Amino acid sequence: MVQRTHLTGARVVLPDGVVDNGRVTVEGTRITAAGPAAGPTAGPVAGSASDRPAPGHADAAPGHADAAPGGGERGLDLAGHWIVPGFVDLHVHGGGGASFSAGTPEEALTAIRTHRRHGTTTMLASTVTGDLDDLARQAAALSELVEQGELAGIHFEGPFISPHRCGAHQPSLLRAPDPADVRKLVDAARGTARMMTLAPELPGGLESVRLLADSGVLAAVGHTDSTYEATLEAIEAGTTVATHLFNAMPSLLHRAPGPVAALLEDERITVELINDGTHLHPAVLGLAFHRAGAARVAFITDAMGAAGMNDGRYPLGPMEVEVKDGVARISDGPTAGSIAGSTLTLDRAFRRAVTIDGLGVEETVRALSATPARVLGIADRVGSLEAGKDADLVVLDGDFQLRGVMRRGAWVVHPELR
Ligand SMILES: [Zn+2]
Repeated sequence: MVQRTHLTGARVVLPDGVVDNGRVTVEGTRITAAGPAAGPTAGPVAGSASDRPAPGHADAAPGHADAAPGGGERGLDLAGHWIVPGFVDLHVHGGGGASFSAGTPEEALTAIRTHRRHGTTTMLASTVTGDLDDLARQAAALSELVEQGELAGIHFEGPFISPHRCGAHQPSLLRAPDPADVRKLVDAARGTARMMTLAPELPGGLESVRLLADSGVLAAVGHTDSTYEATLEAIEAGTTVATHLFNAMPSLLHRAPGPVAALLEDERITVELINDGTHLHPAVLGLAFHRAGAARVAFITDAMGAAGMNDGRYPLGPMEVEVKDGVARISDGPTAGSIAGSTLTLDRAFRRAVTIDGLGVEETVRALSATPARVLGIADRVGSLEAGKDADLVVLDGDFQLRGVMRRGAWVVHPELR
């Protein structure tokens, strides 16, 4: 029979608020109930879990769910802890010493598993600028992991970005977004391309944005030298995401608002923010967060291979990066010294948000889970704790330190064994 697990006693962050002494029931790979421990549990999502016992069924003996229930029942008392949805990362290049750009399943799985242990249960694999044929090969390899359910899709960052804002991307490999080249990469991903970051002011930029939007691929503005006006045009053409807002784009100036203002003020845009304390000052992060609101902010890691590792030297696509005190910078060549992605994991981004940035737990949860899930079009399966959704969740202690991670009903990090 299918194992049914009751996680009880925790503060549970539900879509409509926090429940003290809440309970999440997991059956197989799904959540079958989430709500207050003793009261009626949250109803199932329409059309889901209809073949299972009615939610609340297990409440026949309220308060005893964790007292060694019989049969396939199991309880885990998580008093003093938080249960939040598993994190969703739209932008991550690697971790655990491995990089998605290597284009091998082994390296990709190392990166995936590293971030999973830090609470990211859903992620895109982000590439960096490379030769078009190389990128096409990487995409083909990564697409298999998408088909296997290990990844939620592929995010191409470059090569169609501005030479003035290339950051850690190899300048010699940059190119204007010729729609035929854009199409080539999207096709190489065999239906698994979910997002592409490009500079819309380059020749072919707007046409490429339209092509991506028409193909169901998120067009993201980033690594751009665009003006305020040109960014508005890119939004009209179908842009829906701002790649790490503020980083690798012109600053917000009082007489030249640039892309930042255009992207922040438009309700159609979701803005990525890197909350590692290096990429953004907490005051700037707060301004952007409060202007856009949690429904339009996606916290990302932009992590490279050194995430989850010690300081040292790591590859980032064709470049080499030196990590010192957790900050990654390009070690040599024309872009030496540029910040090269982060070593962030989303559990740290969570902790910073609530302990340093002064954000509320609920809005932080939303920016880490529900909003990126909505952007990816998978909010019916992941991104919140509701009956019928995948049992993807994170257990945090009272100091917001990660204590447990469950993905699709299986513990990645067990709260008791940690
Ligand atoms: Zn990136």
